[in-house]
Amino acid sequence: MGSGGREDALAWRLRQSPSCDDLIAAPGNPGIARWAECVAIDPCDPEAVVRLADERSAGLVVIGPEAPLVAGVSDALREVGFPVFGPSAAAAQLEGSKGFTKDLCAANGIPTARYVRTDKAAEARAALQDFGLPVVIKADGLAAGKGVTIALTTEEAEAAISAAGDGPLVIEEFLEGEEASLFALVDGATAVTLASAQDHKRVGEGDTGPNTGGMGAYSPAPVLTPELERRAMREIVEPTVRALAAAGTPFSGVLYAGLMLTREGPKLIEYNVRFGDPECEAIVPRIEGDFAELLHAVATGRLSEVRPELSDQSAVTVVVAAHGYPGTPASGGLIREIEAAEQVDGVTVFHAGTARTAAGIVATGGRVLAVTAVSDTFANARARAYRAIDQIDFADGFHRRDIGWRELKRAAALESAGG
Ligand code: AMP
Repeated sequence: MGSGGREDALAWRLRQSPSCDDLIAAPGNPGIARWAECVAIDPCDPEAVVRLADERSAGLVVIGPEAPLVAGVSDALREVGFPVFGPSAAAAQLEGSKGFTKDLCAANGIPTARYVRTDKAAEARAALQDFGLPVVIKADGLAAGKGVTIALTTEEAEAAISAAGDGPLVIEEFLEGEEASLFALVDGATAVTLASAQDHKRVGEGDTGPNTGGMGAYSPAPVLTPELERRAMREIVEPTVRALAAAGTPFSGVLYAGLMLTREGPKLIEYNVRFGDPECEAIVPRIEGDFAELLHAVATGRLSEVRPELSDQSAVTVVVAAHGYPGTPASGGLIREIEAAEQVDGVTVFHAGTARTAAGIVATGGRVLAVTAVSDTFANARARAYRAIDQIDFADGFHRRDIGWRELKRAAALESAGG
């Protein structure tokens, strides 16, 4: 289910799985159409999805984005007996409600920023005294999404509180450190590490300008060492999985933990209940073995029998967006030479926002392509990704040239330390 770059990557790997003999995407996109039959239904309509699964006797339904999860599509499918990769609407609250997740952390001793939750502006203003500066103000509930303010001054904090009216808010301590993401597969009871990744949210080079859905990503994220990864699993992911199971709303699917690596160790910033986009495009190419079987094991509670196998290779994804993004993107721009880009060793070009017209492939969204390269080292994968992008002819597009700058800096520091 889905139609973005994340779903293109999922479909690509599913198609390569020995256990997958037929693949249907809804609604899909021209990239996904290379690997799957695309059926034009609304992935957020539970009845339409159940009907399609029924008609095609689906052996597994994989849900890419969060919207169908929140709309209860996985619940509707499970009710009639289809194995589903993706959590219930109840467990999807981990992403849908920041307050829910903060309270779950507090109740289970999970490391996260100290916080206050309120829906009274006056209480929120009073609570500011308990936090230093900067302070983080997050709008909670349905209208949230972009509602995170990192206030450097009390005036900014008060303005953010006023803007929320008497809406639900979380006020929390500002955490210092480097951010990294940890992806775990969870089958209700068992949680296993899948991979780490880092992404670039800002539109501009040097991580400047407005936030986007993500302009690039890489996996693994070496900053999340195996030791930190184990610690984050033990202190954050595993207690979360136990708490949800104990509450009668077990989590099944991929749990994406946004972490701040602080001096005191990893702390949870937020959870997402699906793969990140573009992180998915950088993780999936590293997964070895039968991907469909792995997701099926998650969906049917057999994760203790099947372990994910990750290659040692690095993957780098660079997003190509349409001019204007993340504002109003230019639509309809012609894109040529995608095939030439895919001639570069180790490269796959995933489609995020494209359509096929008589003239060829055109842009239809803000983020248009996710160019992914794998290689033995981070630097080689990155070089391949840019070599591929340089083949693409898309006058209306742009991309960042500095994806992975932290890794380049780290490698340079190591080299100079080594003499
Ligand atoms: P969220 O929507 O909660 O993931 O917040 C969006 C972004 O704001 C995160 O990716 C962080 O970069 C930043 N952020 C959120 N909470 C904190 C915090 N407590 N301390 C520092 N940065 C934060």
